[in-house]
Amino acid sequence: MGKRILVTGGAGFLGAHLCERLIKEGNDVICLDNLFTGNKDNIRHLLGNQYFEFIRHDIVQSIILEVDQIYNLACPASPIHYQYNPIKTTKTSVLGAMNMLGLAKRVHARILQASTSEVYGDPEVHPQPESYRGCVNPIGIRSCYDEGKRVAETLFFDYHRMHGVEIKVMRIFNTYGPKMHPSDGRVVSNFIVQALRGDDITIYGDGSQTRSFCYVDDLIEGMVRLMNSRAEFTGPVNIGNPSEFTIKQLAELVIKLTGSSSKLVYRPLPSDDPLQRKPVIDLAKKELDWEPTVPLEEGLLKTIEYFKTIQ
Ligand code: NAD
Ligand code: UDP
Repeated sequence: MGKRILVTGGAGFLGAHLCERLIKEGNDVICLDNLFTGNKDNIRHLLGNQYFEFIRHDIVQSIILEVDQIYNLACPASPIHYQYNPIKTTKTSVLGAMNMLGLAKRVHARILQASTSEVYGDPEVHPQPESYRGCVNPIGIRSCYDEGKRVAETLFFDYHRMHGVEIKVMRIFNTYGPKMHPSDGRVVSNFIVQALRGDDITIYGDGSQTRSFCYVDDLIEGMVRLMNSRAEFTGPVNIGNPSEFTIKQLAELVIKLTGSSSKLVYRPLPSDDPLQRKPVIDLAKKELDWEPTVPLEEGLLKTIEYFKTIQ
């Protein structure tokens, strides 16, 4: 039988994919979103479904709903969006997590937190295992997001220890795919949109910084497996694709796959931009029997097709 599931941030990039997946599996889904970076277009095809409900609500305010599981995804994820109102970003991460944990405690729901590789900051350990405690600037322009997510993890573990709330903490590494907003500002969507329009491709810094890109279907599979894993397994667990690329390599690949005539241009590197990032996924393999299956080139081709339809 299906479960009653709350997805906060359900109208965003990852949330919309998750809602779709949970509905397909026969669950009753409540999508809660304040539509800051999310979009009703992402979930429009679900709105007529009797097992799907949308609630426009801000998780900084509490709410009471009867549910069995909560996926807490609400938070802007792109640097330009989370830096737009950094105080609000911290409130969303911290007060939002408290409100959702309070709800989970009250209705005895299991709750999953969409945490992030940003908890590792600009890492001195490479690649990053879950045991690495990170190198985060507490007062920089990325801190509202990084420290907000770190406090959220703390709250999850304290609710677990104090109140026995069943928690799952997922550290998500850079994920891309269809339904990313074209002006989201993250690197994959920026490069594809620029390439399709024939605009310059904006590389920040010299392009030697690295990221490891996970296709959205792989990520959602890991997320659902984690939520339904044995009760004693709390994480934190890294979910991401360990294939590492420099940003310049990504730009060149996007140009090749789109057949674009765009040129690479170099812009200043934003402060505290991590120089390298790659997950160790041994724990996810062992506990969830999960590993990514979509190589970057294949995932990019699907994402390029999506962006062609919305140009
Ligand atoms: P997104 O910006 O597309 O989605 C976030 C959603 O949360 C949006 O629909 C937005 O409107 C909503 N939201 C923001 N603040 C809210 C609030 N106060 N109340 C209610 N809704 C609110 O981002 P995404 O890529 O889908 O990321 C989803 C989650 O995964 C985020 O928590 C993010 O930190 C985490 N994450 C994503 C990535 C990635 O690469 N995509 C990496 C690490 C972590
Ligand atoms: N980046 C870039 N050009 C862009 C957007 C981003 O070179 O148009 C770089 C950015 O400086 C960072 C990397 O790409 O080094 C990934 O950026 P993104 O915002 O996607 O995610 P995050 O920095 O949070 O991993």
